[in-house]
Amino acid sequence: MAKAKSFEDMDLPGIAVHMKWVLALIGAYVLLIATNIALVALAPPGGAVAPAIGLAFWVLWLGFVLASIVAGMFLMLAMRMGIGSIVLWSILMLPFNFLVLIAMYSQASTILKVLGVKSGFFGVSRADRERLMPGRCRRCGYDRSGLAEMLAACPECARVPIVW
Ligand SMILES: [Zn+2]
Repeated sequence: MAKAKSFEDMDLPGIAVHMKWVLALIGAYVLLIATNIALVALAPPGGAVAPAIGLAFWVLWLGFVLASIVAGMFLMLAMRMGIGSIVLWSILMLPFNFLVLIAMYSQASTILKVLGVKSGFFGVSRADRERLMPGRCRRCGYDRSGLAEMLAACPECARVPIVW
């Protein structure tokens, strides 16, 4: 999607939080499609789905698309993508909502994977989010702000920070 920027410029805890929302929306999308299929399947033969249910479905759908655009924007901002790409991807959300969400999620999880943080079905764990905070040890989450030496080994786990 975007050119890789320095990880230190990115809002890493923000990526972890916002990708959780993107993941939730992917789940909501699947649920919405399954509901739609069930409604069509359960409709009496030859009969249409009740108009009120059809309308409710479209309202849900609209809310879903809007939520996707908002969650996507937050995630792209956290990844420090340029304004041009953010606008472009937000517009692409309208016709290709699901695909854009998947692309964003995989982009964000790739960034975290490079940093050694796994994201599962429930996103990133709280302990992992702490490790992503600025000034924390990336292995154990120790708050390094009190250390005089920028590149001193972590007192907890002996990890030496890497400069990107
Ligand atoms: Zn450590």
